Amino acid sequence: MAQKIVAGNWKMNLDATSAQQLISEVIHMTNDEYQGDAQVIFSPSFPFLGMVNHQIKDHERFHLSAQNLHQEEKGAYTGEVAGAMLKSVGCSYVIIGHSERRQYFHEDNALLAKKIDVALTNGLKPIYCIGETLEERNAGKTLQVNERQLSEGAFHLSGDAFSQLVIAYEPVWCIGTGVSATPEDAQEVHASIRQLIEDKYGKEISLNTTILYGGSVKPHTAPELFAQKDIDGGLIGGASLKSRDFVDIIKAFA
Ligand code: PEP
Repeated sequence: MAQKIVAGNWKMNLDATSAQQLISEVIHMTNDEYQGDAQVIFSPSFPFLGMVNHQIKDHERFHLSAQNLHQEEKGAYTGEVAGAMLKSVGCSYVIIGHSERRQYFHEDNALLAKKIDVALTNGLKPIYCIGETLEERNAGKTLQVNERQLSEGAFHLSGDAFSQLVIAYEPVWCIGTGVSATPEDAQEVHASIRQLIEDKYGKEISLNTTILYGGSVKPHTAPELFAQKDIDGGLIGGASLKSRDFVDIIKAFA
């Protein structure tokens, strides 16, 4: 069975003091209020990774993720961050292919495939983001776009390597817009993603792959989304910056 996960993507928000406070509140509230077996992942900006790792390291439920990494192992790439560096400050996950990286930094599937490889080489589990734009959805290309992003970015992997991935389906038109896909629409795409994985790697790997939904998930929308058969949790942007909202989303699994 797929691991249930709620991952918070802080993007380029917070400072050291507010980050520290947010983590401490989420740890306390979750420990007090949630007894389930979902994993919780924090994805702060690079400068806060070490600090957040220090705060969460004695709490089994919590894990650390970076928001990006460079595709090369090391070298003269001023301003970039390597997989080995992330691993050395406690990351176990890394977000790859977020739509903001695809859109603003022109990251394409070929580049993302390299990033996935370098993450895996360094013992990091990629949270690989896919999802269609509104234009693509309106043109009836939702499944086609997601299939392409999945196959070009990740289907070069062996079954063992693919098993390390978390997939995040994030319709671009839902990210930060306050508009969420309906649970039924999201489930339809998630089921098709799982089917693609089954076609490529077989039933066992497909059933064990965590497929997160992302796009304006809020405490009141999470329960119905997480109740869908093929939705194994969420990648949460805005609502992960408020401890009460984020913990209520974690509790939506109940
Ligand atoms: C995201 O950035 O991955 C995201 C889902 O953001 P939001 O929840 O704010 O839509």
